[in-house]
Amino acid sequence: MHTTAAILSTGDELVLGQLLDTNARWIAEQLTTLGIRVVQVAVVGDDLNDLTAAIARLASTHDLLITTGGLGPTAGDLTREALAQASSDHLIVDQEQVNILSTKLRNRGRNVNDQQLRQALRPTHATPLPNAHGTAPGLCLRIRNCDTFSLPGPPGELQPMWLASVIPTLHPDRKVLTRLLYALGIPEATCAERLKDLTARARTPLIGMTASGGIITIRMRYEGSDAAEGQALLDRDEADICTRLGTNICATATAGQTHSDQALASVVLNQLTHRGEMLALAESCTGGMVAEVLTRTPGSSAALAGGVVCYTNAVKTTLLGVNAETLANNGAVSEPVASAMALGARRVIPADWSIAITGIAGPDGATATKPLGTVWIALAGPNAYLQTRHFHFPGTRHDVRTRSTLSALAMLHFALKGAPIPKLLWQQDA
Ligand code: ATP
Ligand code: MG
Repeated sequence: MHTTAAILSTGDELVLGQLLDTNARWIAEQLTTLGIRVVQVAVVGDDLNDLTAAIARLASTHDLLITTGGLGPTAGDLTREALAQASSDHLIVDQEQVNILSTKLRNRGRNVNDQQLRQALRPTHATPLPNAHGTAPGLCLRIRNCDTFSLPGPPGELQPMWLASVIPTLHPDRKVLTRLLYALGIPEATCAERLKDLTARARTPLIGMTASGGIITIRMRYEGSDAAEGQALLDRDEADICTRLGTNICATATAGQTHSDQALASVVLNQLTHRGEMLALAESCTGGMVAEVLTRTPGSSAALAGGVVCYTNAVKTTLLGVNAETLANNGAVSEPVASAMALGARRVIPADWSIAITGIAGPDGATATKPLGTVWIALAGPNAYLQTRHFHFPGTRHDVRTRSTLSALAMLHFALKGAPIPKLLWQQDA
Protein backbone atom coordinates (compact mmCIF):
# COMPACT_ATOMS: atom_id res chain seq x y z
CA MET A 1 0.00 0.00 0.00
CA HIS A 2 1.14 3.54 -0.73
CA THR A 3 -0.07 5.62 2.18
CA THR A 4 2.47 8.43 2.38
CA ALA A 5 4.71 9.96 -0.25
CA ALA A 6 7.56 12.42 -0.60
CA ILE A 7 8.60 14.43 -3.63
CA LEU A 8 12.23 15.40 -4.25
CA SER A 9 13.02 17.96 -6.95
CA THR A 10 16.63 18.38 -8.01
CA GLY A 11 18.52 21.05 -9.84
CA ASP A 12 20.73 24.04 -9.08
CA GLU A 13 18.32 26.26 -11.00
CA LEU A 14 15.58 25.43 -8.47
CA VAL A 15 17.58 26.25 -5.34
CA LEU A 16 19.00 29.39 -6.98
CA GLY A 17 15.50 30.69 -7.64
CA GLN A 18 15.94 30.66 -11.41
CA LEU A 19 13.20 28.12 -12.06
CA LEU A 20 9.88 27.55 -10.33
CA ASP A 21 9.35 23.97 -9.19
CA THR A 22 6.14 23.27 -11.07
CA ASN A 23 6.86 19.54 -11.22
CA ALA A 24 6.41 19.11 -7.47
CA ARG A 25 3.14 21.02 -7.57
CA TRP A 26 1.86 18.86 -10.42
CA ILE A 27 2.90 15.57 -8.83
CA ALA A 28 1.53 16.61 -5.44
CA GLU A 29 -1.83 17.39 -7.00
CA GLN A 30 -1.81 14.06 -8.83
CA LEU A 31 -0.95 12.07 -5.70
CA THR A 32 -3.49 13.93 -3.61
CA THR A 33 -6.23 13.28 -6.13
CA LEU A 34 -5.27 9.61 -6.20
CA GLY A 35 -5.57 9.34 -2.42
CA ILE A 36 -1.89 9.22 -1.46
CA ARG A 37 -0.88 11.66 1.23
CA VAL A 38 2.09 13.85 0.29
CA VAL A 39 3.94 14.45 3.53
CA GLN A 40 7.06 16.20 2.32
CA VAL A 41 8.31 18.13 -0.70
CA ALA A 42 12.07 18.73 -0.81
CA VAL A 43 14.41 20.52 -3.19
CA VAL A 44 18.17 19.95 -3.46
CA GLY A 45 20.81 21.31 -5.83
CA ASP A 46 23.09 19.30 -8.10
CA ASP A 47 25.33 17.92 -5.37
CA LEU A 48 25.85 14.17 -5.12
CA ASN A 49 26.14 14.02 -1.33
CA ASP A 50 23.09 16.21 -0.74
CA LEU A 51 21.07 14.26 -3.25
CA THR A 52 22.10 10.87 -1.83
CA ALA A 53 21.32 11.99 1.73
CA ALA A 54 17.92 13.36 0.72
CA ILE A 55 16.96 10.18 -1.14
CA ALA A 56 18.09 7.95 1.75
CA ARG A 57 16.23 10.04 4.33
CA LEU A 58 12.95 10.32 2.38
CA ALA A 59 12.99 6.66 1.33
CA SER A 60 13.39 5.54 4.93
CA THR A 61 10.27 7.40 6.07
CA HIS A 62 7.74 7.02 3.23
CA ASP A 63 6.11 4.32 1.11
CA LEU A 64 6.63 6.26 -2.06
CA LEU A 65 9.32 8.67 -3.28
CA ILE A 66 9.13 10.58 -6.56
CA THR A 67 12.24 12.41 -7.71
CA THR A 68 12.33 14.76 -10.67
CA GLY A 69 15.26 16.01 -12.73
CA GLY A 70 18.93 15.10 -13.00
CA LEU A 71 18.54 12.21 -15.44
CA GLY A 72 20.05 13.88 -18.48
CA PRO A 73 23.51 13.37 -20.00
CA THR A 74 25.41 16.25 -18.37
CA ALA A 75 27.83 16.15 -15.44
CA GLY A 76 25.26 17.98 -13.32
CA ASP A 77 22.75 15.16 -13.79
CA LEU A 78 23.46 13.05 -10.70
CA THR A 79 20.23 11.28 -9.86
CA ARG A 80 21.37 7.86 -11.13
CA GLU A 81 24.55 7.96 -9.02
CA ALA A 82 22.64 9.16 -5.98
CA LEU A 83 20.02 6.39 -6.31
CA ALA A 84 22.81 3.80 -6.46
CA GLN A 85 24.59 5.20 -3.41
CA ALA A 86 21.40 5.61 -1.38
CA SER A 87 20.49 1.97 -1.99
CA SER A 88 24.04 0.62 -1.51
CA ASP A 89 24.10 -0.46 -5.11
CA HIS A 90 26.25 0.36 -8.11
CA LEU A 91 25.59 1.42 -11.69
CA ILE A 92 25.61 -0.91 -14.66
CA VAL A 93 25.08 -0.27 -18.36
CA ASP A 94 21.64 -1.36 -19.47
CA GLN A 95 22.30 -2.73 -22.94
CA GLU A 96 18.69 -2.48 -24.07
CA GLN A 97 18.68 1.20 -23.12
CA VAL A 98 21.92 1.72 -25.03
CA ASN A 99 20.16 0.40 -28.13
CA ILE A 100 17.04 2.50 -27.60
CA LEU A 101 19.14 5.60 -26.91
CA SER A 102 21.38 5.06 -29.95
CA THR A 103 18.38 4.72 -32.23
CA LYS A 104 16.73 7.84 -30.81
CA LEU A 105 19.90 9.91 -31.11
CA ARG A 106 20.67 8.70 -34.63
CA ASN A 107 17.10 9.49 -35.71
CA ARG A 108 17.68 13.04 -34.49
CA GLY A 109 20.98 13.20 -36.36
CA ARG A 110 22.99 13.37 -33.15
CA ASN A 111 26.19 11.58 -32.16
CA VAL A 112 26.08 8.73 -29.71
CA ASN A 113 28.95 9.60 -27.38
CA ASP A 114 29.92 8.42 -23.92
CA GLN A 115 28.29 11.45 -22.38
CA GLN A 116 24.96 10.55 -23.98
CA LEU A 117 25.32 6.92 -22.95
CA ARG A 118 25.37 7.96 -19.28
CA GLN A 119 21.61 7.94 -19.67
CA ALA A 120 21.67 4.15 -20.13
CA LEU A 121 23.24 3.61 -16.71
CA ARG A 122 21.12 2.30 -13.87
CA PRO A 123 21.48 0.77 -10.40
CA THR A 124 21.49 -3.03 -10.81
CA HIS A 125 18.08 -3.47 -9.18
CA ALA A 126 16.36 -0.57 -10.97
CA THR A 127 13.93 -0.88 -13.87
CA PRO A 128 14.02 1.74 -16.66
CA LEU A 129 10.80 3.57 -17.53
CA PRO A 130 10.36 4.38 -21.23
CA ASN A 131 10.56 8.06 -22.18
CA ALA A 132 8.28 8.64 -25.16
CA HIS A 133 9.19 12.32 -25.45
CA GLY A 134 12.89 12.51 -24.71
CA THR A 135 16.08 10.53 -24.40
CA ALA A 136 16.59 9.88 -20.68
CA PRO A 137 14.63 6.89 -19.35
CA GLY A 138 13.08 7.18 -15.91
CA LEU A 139 14.00 4.70 -13.19
CA CYS A 140 11.97 2.66 -10.75
CA LEU A 141 13.52 0.88 -7.79
CA ARG A 142 12.84 -0.14 -4.23
CA ILE A 143 14.92 1.54 -1.54
CA ARG A 144 14.25 -0.17 1.80
CA ASN A 145 10.44 -0.32 1.87
CA CYS A 146 9.98 2.66 -0.39
CA ASP A 147 8.98 2.47 -4.04
CA THR A 148 11.10 5.12 -5.70
CA PHE A 149 10.41 6.62 -9.10
CA SER A 150 12.90 8.96 -10.73
CA LEU A 151 11.47 11.02 -13.55
CA PRO A 152 13.09 13.47 -15.98
CA GLY A 153 12.87 17.21 -15.27
CA PRO A 154 11.18 18.57 -18.41
CA PRO A 155 7.42 18.57 -17.71
CA GLY A 156 6.72 17.42 -21.27
CA GLU A 157 8.67 14.23 -20.54
CA LEU A 158 7.74 13.80 -16.89
CA GLN A 159 3.97 14.03 -17.22
CA PRO A 160 3.47 11.38 -19.95
CA MET A 161 5.89 9.05 -18.13
CA TRP A 162 3.98 9.54 -14.90
CA LEU A 163 0.67 8.74 -16.56
CA ALA A 164 1.96 5.73 -18.51
CA SER A 165 4.42 4.11 -16.10
CA VAL A 166 3.84 5.34 -12.56
CA ILE A 167 0.10 5.66 -11.99
CA PRO A 168 -0.68 2.03 -12.98
CA THR A 169 1.71 0.75 -10.29
CA LEU A 170 0.39 2.86 -7.41
CA HIS A 171 -1.71 1.42 -4.60
CA PRO A 172 -3.51 4.19 -2.72
CA ASP A 173 -5.16 3.03 0.50
CA ARG A 174 -8.13 5.34 0.18
CA LYS A 175 -10.30 7.21 -2.24
CA VAL A 176 -10.15 10.99 -2.48
CA LEU A 177 -12.90 12.99 -4.14
CA THR A 178 -12.75 16.74 -4.45
CA ARG A 179 -15.15 19.39 -5.61
CA LEU A 180 -14.92 23.16 -5.87
CA LEU A 181 -17.66 25.74 -5.55
CA TYR A 182 -17.19 29.43 -6.28
CA ALA A 183 -19.07 32.20 -4.50
CA LEU A 184 -19.35 35.87 -5.41
CA GLY A 185 -20.69 39.04 -3.91
CA ILE A 186 -20.42 37.91 -0.31
CA PRO A 187 -17.74 38.88 2.20
CA GLU A 188 -15.50 36.00 3.21
CA ALA A 189 -16.40 36.41 6.88
CA THR A 190 -20.13 36.21 6.11
CA CYS A 191 -19.55 33.11 4.01
CA ALA A 192 -17.49 31.55 6.81
CA GLU A 193 -20.25 32.34 9.32
CA ARG A 194 -22.95 30.74 7.19
CA LEU A 195 -20.91 27.59 6.62
CA LYS A 196 -19.41 27.46 10.11
CA ASP A 197 -20.64 24.01 11.16
CA LEU A 198 -19.70 22.54 7.77
CA THR A 199 -16.11 23.71 8.00
CA ALA A 200 -15.19 21.96 11.26
CA ARG A 201 -11.71 20.47 10.91
CA ALA A 202 -12.58 16.90 11.86
CA ARG A 203 -15.54 16.60 9.54
CA THR A 204 -16.05 14.37 6.49
CA PRO A 205 -16.15 15.72 3.85
CA LEU A 206 -13.62 18.36 4.80
CA ILE A 207 -14.81 21.79 3.69
CA GLY A 208 -12.61 24.88 3.58
CA MET A 209 -12.53 28.19 1.79
CA THR A 210 -10.07 30.70 0.39
CA ALA A 211 -10.81 34.15 -0.99
CA SER A 212 -8.89 35.73 -3.82
CA GLY A 213 -9.60 38.68 -6.06
CA GLY A 214 -13.24 38.99 -4.97
CA ILE A 215 -14.19 35.36 -5.49
CA ILE A 216 -14.41 32.74 -2.76
CA THR A 217 -13.37 29.20 -3.55
CA ILE A 218 -15.03 26.58 -1.38
CA ARG A 219 -13.08 23.31 -1.42
CA MET A 220 -14.81 20.06 -0.59
CA ARG A 221 -12.80 16.92 -0.05
CA TYR A 222 -13.83 13.37 0.82
CA GLU A 223 -11.25 10.83 1.95
CA GLY A 224 -12.37 7.32 2.72
CA SER A 225 -12.75 3.80 1.45
CA ASP A 226 -16.06 4.09 -0.38
CA ALA A 227 -16.30 6.26 -3.51
CA ALA A 228 -20.09 5.92 -3.76
CA GLU A 229 -20.50 7.04 -0.18
CA GLY A 230 -18.11 9.93 -0.91
CA GLN A 231 -20.14 11.12 -3.91
CA ALA A 232 -23.35 10.96 -1.89
CA LEU A 233 -21.84 12.99 0.96
CA LEU A 234 -20.45 15.59 -1.46
CA ASP A 235 -23.83 15.85 -3.21
CA ARG A 236 -25.54 16.34 0.14
CA ASP A 237 -23.12 19.05 1.29
CA GLU A 238 -23.07 20.81 -2.07
CA ALA A 239 -26.86 21.07 -2.01
CA ASP A 240 -26.69 22.37 1.55
CA ILE A 241 -24.05 25.00 0.69
CA CYS A 242 -26.04 26.11 -2.36
CA THR A 243 -29.11 26.59 -0.19
CA ARG A 244 -27.17 28.59 2.38
CA LEU A 245 -25.43 30.85 -0.14
CA GLY A 246 -28.20 31.08 -2.75
CA THR A 247 -27.38 33.16 -5.81
CA ASN A 248 -23.95 33.93 -4.37
CA ILE A 249 -22.83 30.52 -5.60
CA CYS A 250 -21.75 31.11 -9.16
CA ALA A 251 -19.94 28.01 -10.35
CA THR A 252 -18.77 24.53 -9.57
CA ALA A 253 -15.64 22.83 -10.86
CA THR A 254 -13.85 19.56 -10.38
CA ALA A 255 -10.27 19.47 -9.15
CA GLY A 256 -7.76 20.51 -11.76
CA GLN A 257 -9.90 23.40 -13.00
CA THR A 258 -8.64 25.57 -10.21
CA HIS A 259 -8.78 29.02 -11.78
CA SER A 260 -11.70 30.94 -10.38
CA ASP A 261 -11.80 33.60 -13.13
CA GLN A 262 -11.91 30.83 -15.71
CA ALA A 263 -14.73 29.08 -13.88
CA LEU A 264 -16.74 32.31 -13.81
CA ALA A 265 -16.04 33.02 -17.49
CA SER A 266 -17.25 29.53 -18.44
CA VAL A 267 -20.44 29.94 -16.44
CA VAL A 268 -21.22 33.30 -17.99
CA LEU A 269 -20.61 31.92 -21.48
CA ASN A 270 -22.85 28.95 -20.75
CA GLN A 271 -25.61 31.20 -19.49
CA LEU A 272 -25.39 33.42 -22.58
CA THR A 273 -25.26 30.47 -24.98
CA HIS A 274 -28.19 28.83 -23.22
CA ARG A 275 -30.25 32.01 -23.63
CA GLY A 276 -29.07 32.51 -27.22
CA GLU A 277 -27.71 35.96 -26.34
CA MET A 278 -24.52 37.76 -27.34
CA LEU A 279 -22.11 40.01 -25.50
CA ALA A 280 -20.17 43.07 -26.70
CA LEU A 281 -17.27 44.68 -24.85
CA ALA A 282 -15.76 48.15 -24.56
CA GLU A 283 -12.57 47.82 -22.59
CA SER A 284 -10.34 50.65 -21.52
CA CYS A 285 -8.39 49.87 -18.30
CA THR A 286 -8.48 46.08 -18.96
CA GLY A 287 -7.26 46.36 -22.59
CA GLY A 288 -9.07 43.25 -23.77
CA MET A 289 -8.63 41.13 -20.67
CA VAL A 290 -12.34 40.34 -20.44
CA ALA A 291 -12.25 39.17 -24.04
CA GLU A 292 -9.11 37.15 -23.32
CA VAL A 293 -10.58 35.37 -20.29
CA LEU A 294 -13.80 34.60 -22.19
CA THR A 295 -12.08 33.35 -25.34
CA ARG A 296 -9.92 30.90 -23.40
CA THR A 297 -13.02 28.73 -23.38
CA PRO A 298 -13.50 26.93 -26.70
CA GLY A 299 -16.72 27.82 -28.47
CA SER A 300 -16.87 31.28 -26.88
CA SER A 301 -17.77 32.86 -30.22
CA ALA A 302 -21.29 31.51 -29.72
CA ALA A 303 -21.73 34.17 -27.04
CA LEU A 304 -19.02 36.81 -27.50
CA ALA A 305 -19.81 39.07 -30.45
CA GLY A 306 -16.69 41.23 -30.15
CA GLY A 307 -15.15 44.14 -28.38
CA VAL A 308 -13.50 47.51 -28.68
CA VAL A 309 -10.29 48.30 -26.86
CA CYS A 310 -10.64 52.03 -26.41
CA TYR A 311 -7.99 54.19 -24.81
CA THR A 312 -7.98 57.61 -26.42
CA ASN A 313 -10.92 59.98 -26.19
CA ALA A 314 -10.99 59.96 -30.01
CA VAL A 315 -11.71 56.23 -30.08
CA LYS A 316 -14.37 56.62 -27.42
CA THR A 317 -16.10 59.40 -29.39
CA THR A 318 -15.68 58.26 -32.99
CA LEU A 319 -16.04 54.51 -32.54
CA LEU A 320 -18.37 54.26 -29.57
CA GLY A 321 -20.21 57.56 -29.96
CA VAL A 322 -19.38 58.82 -26.49
CA ASN A 323 -20.26 62.51 -26.38
CA ALA A 324 -17.15 64.74 -26.31
CA GLU A 325 -18.82 66.97 -23.75
CA THR A 326 -19.55 64.02 -21.48
CA LEU A 327 -15.86 63.19 -21.61
CA ALA A 328 -14.77 66.77 -21.04
CA ASN A 329 -17.17 67.37 -18.16
CA ASN A 330 -16.70 64.13 -16.27
CA GLY A 331 -13.34 62.72 -17.33
CA ALA A 332 -12.89 59.36 -19.01
CA VAL A 333 -13.10 57.49 -15.71
CA SER A 334 -16.65 58.32 -14.71
CA GLU A 335 -20.11 56.87 -14.54
CA PRO A 336 -21.56 58.78 -17.54
CA VAL A 337 -18.65 57.72 -19.75
CA ALA A 338 -18.87 54.06 -18.65
CA SER A 339 -22.61 54.06 -19.45
CA ALA A 340 -22.08 55.76 -22.81
CA MET A 341 -19.33 53.26 -23.67
CA ALA A 342 -21.59 50.30 -22.84
CA LEU A 343 -24.48 51.70 -24.89
CA GLY A 344 -22.12 52.63 -27.72
CA ALA A 345 -20.59 49.14 -27.80
CA ARG A 346 -24.02 47.67 -28.30
CA ARG A 347 -24.70 50.08 -31.15
CA VAL A 348 -21.55 49.24 -33.11
CA ILE A 349 -21.48 45.56 -32.23
CA PRO A 350 -24.94 44.04 -32.42
CA ALA A 351 -25.36 42.20 -29.12
CA ASP A 352 -27.85 41.71 -26.31
CA TRP A 353 -25.50 42.65 -23.50
CA SER A 354 -22.51 44.90 -23.26
CA ILE A 355 -19.86 45.53 -20.65
CA ALA A 356 -17.79 48.71 -20.48
CA ILE A 357 -14.81 49.23 -18.21
CA THR A 358 -12.96 52.48 -17.63
CA GLY A 359 -10.48 53.02 -14.83
CA ILE A 360 -7.08 53.98 -13.52
CA ALA A 361 -4.87 50.91 -13.34
CA GLY A 362 -1.78 52.91 -12.38
CA PRO A 363 0.95 53.42 -11.50
CA ASP A 364 0.30 56.91 -12.94
CA GLY A 365 -2.89 58.76 -13.72
CA ALA A 366 -4.37 59.22 -10.26
CA THR A 367 -5.95 62.55 -9.31
CA ALA A 368 -7.13 63.94 -5.99
CA THR A 369 -10.70 62.77 -6.59
CA LYS A 370 -9.85 59.62 -8.55
CA PRO A 371 -7.21 57.57 -6.73
CA LEU A 372 -5.36 54.65 -8.31
CA GLY A 373 -7.63 51.68 -8.70
CA THR A 374 -10.73 53.80 -9.40
CA VAL A 375 -12.80 51.88 -11.93
CA TRP A 376 -16.28 52.32 -13.33
CA ILE A 377 -18.01 49.32 -14.87
CA ALA A 378 -21.26 49.57 -16.81
CA LEU A 379 -23.46 46.71 -17.90
CA ALA A 380 -26.17 47.27 -20.51
CA GLY A 381 -28.74 44.67 -21.51
CA PRO A 382 -32.18 43.97 -22.95
CA ASN A 383 -35.20 46.09 -21.98
CA ALA A 384 -33.06 49.17 -21.32
CA TYR A 385 -31.18 47.35 -18.57
CA LEU A 386 -28.30 49.56 -17.42
CA GLN A 387 -26.30 49.14 -14.26
CA THR A 388 -23.12 50.93 -13.26
CA ARG A 389 -20.78 50.21 -10.36
CA HIS A 390 -17.94 52.20 -8.92
CA PHE A 391 -14.94 50.32 -7.54
CA HIS A 392 -11.76 51.19 -5.78
CA PHE A 393 -9.46 48.20 -6.26
CA PRO A 394 -6.30 47.86 -4.19
CA GLY A 395 -3.05 46.39 -5.47
CA THR A 396 -0.79 46.57 -8.48
CA ARG A 397 -1.71 47.50 -12.03
CA HIS A 398 -2.18 43.79 -12.71
CA ASP A 399 -4.41 43.38 -9.64
CA VAL A 400 -6.60 46.32 -10.67
CA ARG A 401 -7.01 44.88 -14.16
CA THR A 402 -7.77 41.30 -13.10
CA ARG A 403 -10.13 42.48 -10.36
CA SER A 404 -11.95 44.71 -12.84
CA THR A 405 -12.31 41.76 -15.20
CA LEU A 406 -13.68 39.50 -12.50
CA SER A 407 -16.08 42.14 -11.20
CA ALA A 408 -17.44 42.82 -14.69
CA LEU A 409 -18.09 39.12 -15.23
CA ALA A 410 -19.66 38.91 -11.78
CA MET A 411 -22.09 41.74 -12.62
CA LEU A 412 -23.08 40.00 -15.84
CA HIS A 413 -23.47 36.71 -14.02
CA PHE A 414 -26.03 38.12 -11.58
CA ALA A 415 -27.85 39.99 -14.33
CA LEU A 416 -28.16 36.80 -16.42
CA LYS A 417 -29.58 35.01 -13.38
CA GLY A 418 -32.17 37.75 -13.12
CA ALA A 419 -30.86 38.53 -9.64
CA PRO A 420 -29.98 41.95 -8.25
CA ILE A 421 -26.24 42.54 -8.30
CA PRO A 422 -25.06 42.27 -4.70
CA LYS A 423 -22.45 44.64 -3.35
CA LEU A 424 -19.19 43.28 -4.72
CA LEU A 425 -15.82 43.37 -3.03
CA TRP A 426 -14.13 46.81 -3.26
CA GLN A 427 -17.30 48.39 -4.57
CA GLN A 428 -17.74 51.97 -3.39
CA ASP A 429 -21.01 53.05 -1.86
CA ALA A 430 -23.11 54.99 -4.33
P1 ATP B 1 17.48 16.69 -19.40
O1 ATP B 1 17.74 15.43 -20.11
O2 ATP B 1 16.63 17.66 -20.19
O3 ATP B 1 18.71 17.33 -18.82
P2 ATP B 1 16.86 16.03 -16.66
O4 ATP B 1 16.04 14.92 -16.15
O5 ATP B 1 18.33 15.96 -16.43
O6 ATP B 1 16.53 16.27 -18.17
P3 ATP B 1 17.08 18.58 -15.47
O7 ATP B 1 18.40 18.72 -16.16
O8 ATP B 1 17.07 18.56 -14.00
O9 ATP B 1 16.31 17.31 -15.97
O10 ATP B 1 16.08 19.71 -15.98
C1 ATP B 1 15.90 19.90 -17.37
C2 ATP B 1 14.87 20.98 -17.59
O11 ATP B 1 13.61 20.52 -17.15
C3 ATP B 1 15.07 22.26 -16.80
O12 ATP B 1 15.93 23.16 -17.43
C4 ATP B 1 13.68 22.80 -16.71
O13 ATP B 1 13.30 23.44 -17.90
C5 ATP B 1 12.86 21.56 -16.55
N1 ATP B 1 12.65 21.24 -15.14
C6 ATP B 1 13.48 20.54 -14.34
N2 ATP B 1 13.01 20.43 -13.09
C7 ATP B 1 11.84 21.11 -13.08
C8 ATP B 1 10.87 21.36 -12.07
N3 ATP B 1 11.02 20.88 -10.83
N4 ATP B 1 9.78 22.08 -12.41
C9 ATP B 1 9.65 22.53 -13.66
N5 ATP B 1 10.52 22.32 -14.66
C10 ATP B 1 11.62 21.61 -14.39
MG1 MG C 1 19.72 17.67 -17.11
